[in-house]
Amino acid sequence: MNILSGDHLLSYDYIKSQIEARDRELDNKFSKDTQVNYIRNTRNYLGDKLGRVAAPHKILSPENGPLIAVRLNILTRKTLGGIKTNLNGQVLRQDESIIEGLFAAGEAAGFGGGGMHGYRALEGTFLGGCIFSGMKAGKYIAGLK
Ligand SMILES: Cc1cc2nc3c(=O)[nH]c(=O)nc-3n(C[C@H](O)[C@H](O)[C@H](O)COP(=O)(O)OP(=O)(O)OC[C@H]3O[C@@H](n4cnc5c(N)ncnc54)[C@H](O)[C@@H]3O)c2cc1C
Repeated sequence: MNILSGDHLLSYDYIKSQIEARDRELDNKFSKDTQVNYIRNTRNYLGDKLGRVAAPHKILSPENGPLIAVRLNILTRKTLGGIKTNLNGQVLRQDESIIEGLFAAGEAAGFGGGGMHGYRALEGTFLGGCIFSGMKAGKYIAGLK
């Protein structure tokens, strides 16, 4: 990966020590490793135990090799912030005054996470808020309120 990307951001020794430390935790029944515990807890549920194809295993065990590197392209799936509006979708300045003629709805207005459904982002709670805030803005613009 260092050769491919040319930026040499990856330290072989650091990554190796991280993987070895993680593998060691698999032998520890009382591990404090968050990821290992999370996988163990998840597999207490039968559906997840059966549905997940790879049982927990040591990454560096020869039978699980060879290691391959995968280049990831990070993208934003949803935003957790947004343009501040009032309940009519009118965009507000920092001092809360209205910018006449400018509206925002959906993810741009912070409905991509939490929003009207509360503080946290939970699957299935985005689209509804995006559509609803668009409807609110549209109705206001059409004078329907
Ligand atoms: C993979 C994935 C799965 C999801 N699954 C769910 C789910 O199961 N349930 C759920 O509730 N939500 C889900 N969401 C979130 C939900 O789909 C989005 O929050 C919602 O579609 C956002 O709607 P929006 O209209 O605010 O923005 P968008 O749908 O992103 O619309 C913005 C539009 O603006 C256009 N645009 C951008 N820049 C410009 C410009 N300069 N000029 C003109 N047009 C421009 C874009 O092309 C786009 O069409 C998912 C999102 C993703 C990415």
